[in-house]
Amino acid sequence: MDTLLRVRDLVVEAGPLRILDGVGFDVPAGQTLGVVGESGSGKTMTANAVLGLLPAGVSVTSGSIAFGGTELVGLPESRRRAVRGSDVAMVFQDPLAALNPVQPVGRQVSEVARRREGLSRGAAGRLAVELLDRVGVPDPAQRARAYPHQLSGGLRQRAVIAMALAGRPRLILADEPTTALDVSVQGRILGLLAKVQAEDGVSVLLISHDLRVMAHAAQRVAVMYAGRVVEQGATRELLRAPRHPYTAALVRSVPAVHTRSALVAPIPGNPPSLAALPSGCRFHPRCPLAAPRCRVEQPALREVGPDRLSACHRAEEVNGA
Ligand code: SF4
Repeated sequence: MDTLLRVRDLVVEAGPLRILDGVGFDVPAGQTLGVVGESGSGKTMTANAVLGLLPAGVSVTSGSIAFGGTELVGLPESRRRAVRGSDVAMVFQDPLAALNPVQPVGRQVSEVARRREGLSRGAAGRLAVELLDRVGVPDPAQRARAYPHQLSGGLRQRAVIAMALAGRPRLILADEPTTALDVSVQGRILGLLAKVQAEDGVSVLLISHDLRVMAHAAQRVAVMYAGRVVEQGATRELLRAPRHPYTAALVRSVPAVHTRSALVAPIPGNPPSLAALPSGCRFHPRCPLAAPRCRVEQPALREVGPDRLSACHRAEEVNGA
């Protein structure tokens, strides 16, 4: 399977704080990789590092981000911007922030198509209506003339996805794309992302705190905890039989993906502060399987089965969900 985006040993630091510590994963061409974890796990910082959009004072200090075979770490900003502009599209939590409030949505979609394809204004306008239709915006010709504030949250997010498609990206980076939406439309937006991914063969890096989002839309998942990837594998298998106690706890905390019992158990305790990380395994203060070794020795991410990586000394003893 070809890999579009390959991240290896990525370290991101802000002064003395190490925000990402050796993060690695692959986004296969034409597939969706989900990155899941609690708030503060580093998943959004990972997305920002891939985009080259880290906040001031935060930088990649080592590691590799290879996109389509091109190494992005150390690339001059102008070339980085070119990759971002032509090959990567972004879909964020708040569609209003991604849209220009004083321009009709159809115009915004067509401007992306004009930049990418060099189309005439008329042809780009027709393409915009086609794309709005394709992403499920009803009455697309009429809605193309609407301003963002005249659309519902779900329709705005569909318009943002139409804008993304107009740029014909190789990678869509979707960071909590449904978190701000009504529950009733969340599934439909995830279904739409899965549909465009399958139809266009585009790859998707999907960031979410919610395992149900992963179950719905990602073929593969990387689970992050306190700045590290702690488990990685095919979504269905990983949810059915986790090989890291944190993944198992996440699964138990979510009713819809909890397969073996009616009980839903919140994860005890809180994620650690980056300024005061626990020794050894960062999950040990919350882990029901913690052993003396776990307090002193940080586990490496290792193969624990077919197509499965886990960073746990006791991965083979983890008792599923
Ligand atoms: Fe728990 Fe130890 Fe595994 Fe960490 S290494 S997750 S503390 S069993």
